[in-house]
Amino acid sequence: MSVNPMGYSSSIETEQAPQYQWEDNPCPVCESRECIRLGDRGGQAHKHRKGVRCTIVQCRVCSHLYPHPMPMTDDPNALYHDVDEYFVNHDPQTKIEKARILLQELERYCNGRGRMLDIGSGRGELLYAASFLGWDPYGVEASAEFTEFAKATYGVQVTQGTLARANYPDATFDLVTLGAVLEHLYDPKGMLRQIHRILKPDGVVWIDVPNEASLYNTIGNLYFALQGKDWVSQLSPTFAPYHVQGFTRRSLLQLLTQTGFSALTLKLYTGRTLLSRKTAKEHFEYWAASLVNQLARWTRTGPYMEVVARAMHAGT
Ligand SMILES: [Zn+2]
Repeated sequence: MSVNPMGYSSSIETEQAPQYQWEDNPCPVCESRECIRLGDRGGQAHKHRKGVRCTIVQCRVCSHLYPHPMPMTDDPNALYHDVDEYFVNHDPQTKIEKARILLQELERYCNGRGRMLDIGSGRGELLYAASFLGWDPYGVEASAEFTEFAKATYGVQVTQGTLARANYPDATFDLVTLGAVLEHLYDPKGMLRQIHRILKPDGVVWIDVPNEASLYNTIGNLYFALQGKDWVSQLSPTFAPYHVQGFTRRSLLQLLTQTGFSALTLKLYTGRTLLSRKTAKEHFEYWAASLVNQLARWTRTGPYMEVVARAMHAGT
């Protein structure tokens, strides 16, 4: 069991669970150390005691949310070892169809279908959709299991490892997609700088991340407070620290500007309610979450955020 400097203990006891070092980190977006504590998340601060207890703070300067101290591990891939478990709520056919629609939208910003890279390509559905639409698709995936699955199932081209290890030349791609990745990374700024380098001039990046300033989070935190709990709903899921970056619209746009991108569109949206409904209390929570989702649609404060941004170069 790992114990952090604040005395919290990890609830992960599985064989592959990594050990964490707890780092006194500044804001990963603007590097300010001015932050406010929002509450705890994970471990003893989770209804099923899942994951690792972290204190979540918000940057006073750029509004970004992050665990402080940050749970660091030398082997983040150990968190994502089981394809079926990690993607338990993901249906492949639905993902392929969504990817097809997304890529057809992105064509408008890319002047057609060129060479594209999907970072964190997972099981490979987006690459598969891209290949039959006529793109020249490449994938990078940290997990060896996901990489093998994508190659064997869809016959797509995936490099296993990090983007740095793939070592693409400058100005290689017309489009880079980064869906549900940035919130998992210790260094999101470094990732966007690498993407800027490998994009062609005027190339486009598409990013999808949770919106941590959503109505769902506001009401979830209020619900915890009414129960007398010092917990927050941000940076979920809580089993292991999967999400270590909590973007708001403002912090995401600031990160893009700092790394040489100009945002073309930013959309907040709402997904399905995935809570279980076994007990009466869970039924109530499901109903409440569905209601909040509907309100979020009306007020455009959805829990997810996607942005399309163009790489700006000197003279553009
Ligand atoms: Zn900040």
